Amino acid sequence: MDVRPWGHALAGLVLPVQCAGCGLDDVAWCAACRRPFEAQPRRCEERAGRLDLLDGSLLPVWTLADCVGPARETVVAWKDRARYDLTMHLAGVARVAAGRSGGTWVPAGVPALVVPAPSTAAARRRRGGNLVDALAQAVAEGLTAAGSPARDAPVLARRGADQAGLGARARGTNLAGRVRVRGDGRDLQGRAVLVVDDVLTTGATIAACRVALEASGARVVGAFTLASTPPPGATARPADPQVPTRAEDWWSGPVRG
Ligand SMILES: [Zn+2]
Repeated sequence: MDVRPWGHALAGLVLPVQCAGCGLDDVAWCAACRRPFEAQPRRCEERAGRLDLLDGSLLPVWTLADCVGPARETVVAWKDRARYDLTMHLAGVARVAAGRSGGTWVPAGVPALVVPAPSTAAARRRRGGNLVDALAQAVAEGLTAAGSPARDAPVLARRGADQAGLGARARGTNLAGRVRVRGDGRDLQGRAVLVVDDVLTTGATIAACRVALEASGARVVGAFTLASTPPPGATARPADPQVPTRAEDWWSGPVRG
């Protein structure tokens, strides 16, 4: 991702660029597709059935976009279509969101840890690293700039297969016991932790991270995701008056390949 602006411009002369969200020519991510990610962060934990199974409490999860339509296309392009040029854009919106948190995401005082949800070794090889690491770093920067000192801490590892394509029950089974803290976890003892992931769907990933972190003595205080998946039939937050606002309008829509 160490491409200088002139290098980017030069690449654009040779390779056609299209918006990751809508396919618009000559732009990596257009303003309309970016707009849902520029929303005020909002809570979304009630969308995830998995987050209330551990001790009865719901973990606060802040998010930006509904993971439908162009927002979903953007995340899929980033993760599964090798659009790694989006990393800096998505990290940018995460940094701004954390900067707007106003001290509500992590407690003041002792610097909080921002822990990225881990990806499998196979996914890291395919993508050249864990893409979510960049989001966690950006969130830590945003929190710090907003007066809540934080640093990113990629302390989790994950075994097993990818979650993509699995249903809710299979996701939970796939993850059980497969997220672990690297090393002895001594640095986590008593620390407030914010977990960061790309999308909240069932909550299984964040729940598995929470179990592993709390087993090492950390106190998971919340999570942040770029987007969250509305339940089927739910009314998605309108991003633009020109686009359908009900989630199923997007579910049944064409998927660009
Ligand atoms: Zn677009």
